[in-house]
Amino acid sequence: MPRQRRSNDWGFPRWRAYGAAGAPPEAQRRCDRTGCDRPGTCPAPKAPNRPERWWFCAEHAADYNRQWDYFAALSEEEAAAQAESEARGARAYQRARHWDWGEGDGSRSRAELDALRLFDLPPDADEADIKAAHRRMAKANHPDVNPGNVEAADRFQAAQAAYEVLTRASAARATRNGPR
Ligand SMILES: [Zn+2]
Repeated sequence: MPRQRRSNDWGFPRWRAYGAAGAPPEAQRRCDRTGCDRPGTCPAPKAPNRPERWWFCAEHAADYNRQWDYFAALSEEEAAAQAESEARGARAYQRARHWDWGEGDGSRSRAELDALRLFDLPPDADEADIKAAHRRMAKANHPDVNPGNVEAADRFQAAQAAYEVLTRASAARATRNGPR
């Protein structure tokens, strides 16, 4: 018996364009937040009085807007430093996207090797090594313990991106190889 058809857009009509009959997935703009795969439907200015925009999903747009109030209250100098930090984050993110294109095929891909290098790990590092190195790097460079440190923020973002590359590649391999 067919299940009753029901709109799944939760009252957001613009999401309907992304349904089965919509554009192919690769044509969709993705949320700019690192690690988020949802459609980026909500534009948000990158800096005051600038035309550049982030594109976020609804949840991350709300997140960003909450921080925007804080951003708007900063002095011009602080805001410039913040914008620079955002730009670094974007570069780290682009690097992660680049890594993502590498495809593992049993041995580790170029992308994974780059990510391992970032953690200062050898090519044959195991999951426990990777987990420990990621935790160490993320902890040491976390924005909460390095307020205003753009270098640390850059390293933190890069660590997150590299860890994601490694865990995704590992999961993809496990799926392809099946249980051993
Ligand atoms: Zn998002």
